[in-house]
Amino acid sequence: MFKPKKKRRPKRQFIIRKKVCSFCVEKAKTIDYKDIAKLTKFTTERGKMIPRRVSGVCAKHQRVLAMAIKRARFIALIPYIRK
Ligand SMILES: [Zn+2]
Repeated sequence: MFKPKKKRRPKRQFIIRKKVCSFCVEKAKTIDYKDIAKLTKFTTERGKMIPRRVSGVCAKHQRVLAMAIKRARFIALIPYIRK
């Protein structure tokens, strides 16, 4: 018996990975605004804050992080804009 060949769509070859919040992993409750090395990880090279959908930080920690970054900016530990 003749079977017509079905056209197969190529399977998508990417693995769905769920981003985990790095602060949840550490079980951090507060984020130190004096910890510049950590804070600059969550900012772009221009000094802007990286959005949550990119960095994968959870809502709870993003709020704490935003506060810490703003605080660090205010006391001039990290710049508002880097040129
Ligand atoms: Zn978190």
